[in-house]
Amino acid sequence: MDIRPSHRAQAIKPSPTLAVSAKAAELRASGRNILNLAAGEPDFDTPEHVKAAAIEAINNGFTKYTAVDGTPELKAAIAEKFTRENRLDYEPQQILVSCGCKHSIYNLMQALLDPDDEVIIPAPYWVSYPDMTRLAGAQPVIIKTRIDDQFKITPDQLRGAISDRSRLLIINSPSNPTGSYYSPSELEALAGILADHPEIVIASDDIYEHILWTGTPFTNILNTSPALYDRTVVLNGVSKAYAMTGWRIGYAAGPDALIAAMKKIQSQSTSNPTSISQVAATAALTGDQGLLKTQCETFRQRHDFVVDALNAIEGVKAMPSDGTFYSFPDVSGVIDLHDGIVNDVDLAEHLLDRASVAVVPGSAFGAPGCLRLSYATSMEVLEQALGQMQAALEG
Ligand code: PLP
Repeated sequence: MDIRPSHRAQAIKPSPTLAVSAKAAELRASGRNILNLAAGEPDFDTPEHVKAAAIEAINNGFTKYTAVDGTPELKAAIAEKFTRENRLDYEPQQILVSCGCKHSIYNLMQALLDPDDEVIIPAPYWVSYPDMTRLAGAQPVIIKTRIDDQFKITPDQLRGAISDRSRLLIINSPSNPTGSYYSPSELEALAGILADHPEIVIASDDIYEHILWTGTPFTNILNTSPALYDRTVVLNGVSKAYAMTGWRIGYAAGPDALIAAMKKIQSQSTSNPTSISQVAATAALTGDQGLLKTQCETFRQRHDFVVDALNAIEGVKAMPSDGTFYSFPDVSGVIDLHDGIVNDVDLAEHLLDRASVAVVPGSAFGAPGCLRLSYATSMEVLEQALGQMQAALEG
């Protein structure tokens, strides 16, 4: 018997970034030496003191359900982190810990959106925003940006995207996939538009805040425009900063009523995040923060190499970015130069076949004609991969 999946399930597609990584792993298992530039996670190991805290938690029997919204210790560590690093103050009832920042965003959309509400999403976007919007029955409204504008939206574009049904704006800075970062004055300008639309909630996805090399402290829209405090949800987690993607701890902070609604949704789905991971995340947030700087410097060196190497390939235009571990070159020039390659998906397949390099097509992020390369891998792999790409495209 054929079982028909729900309309909800049919309206979305599997995560394309995970699909590319899975294909690369499959080819590797069949004996091919595939260089993976598709990964969305730091290549470093989780810090030793974090692992030790988790092992101790297991040995102490801290292996049962916790409070739905997270342990008091972790919530206190998160509140302290917000004060220390972000100059933002939250009470415990304004914080919800979830199973990764992805889950925090999912809870937000489920708690906020009704059918036909609109979510304003700047493109290139993180792949999950539009599909999570659709899962909540709402409509994504995409604002397209160009590499020549550093992939950032302007206040005019934001004004043009707002309608009577706008309910949520997503800001992800520094951005996956472009690495673009909104300066304080750019955030202030966007806040100026939002001031006329008090019904719009702002989601500030700060997950890459620590991978930033502007030389100035990370700034989100609440730092520049505190008047938005009552309608902004700040989203973050330990995955990218502390190389803890598999531990699945993310968190949201925002207005009491919205956080309470998100908590209710979580209570009827996953309950609490893993008890052991919560102890590990507490150790990460309260322990030595020195590694954040070291890791950031490593990513910056790789960024410099990758951007130069990409720009050396005929037809590729790569933008130096401010942070993250992704480069998002415009490859429309390469597509024009090669008869057999008609779009970015073809090009990604060509690179997998001919250069043995896995990258993600830009169309997965709402930006056809681009590719996303992750440099969360060693310099050795990067040098080899970029060399093989150049040979495959120019040879
Ligand atoms: N937000 C952005 C922009 C991301 O790139 C990711 C992960 O790739 C997430 C959120 C989710 O992170 P996690 O669920 O691992 O905490």
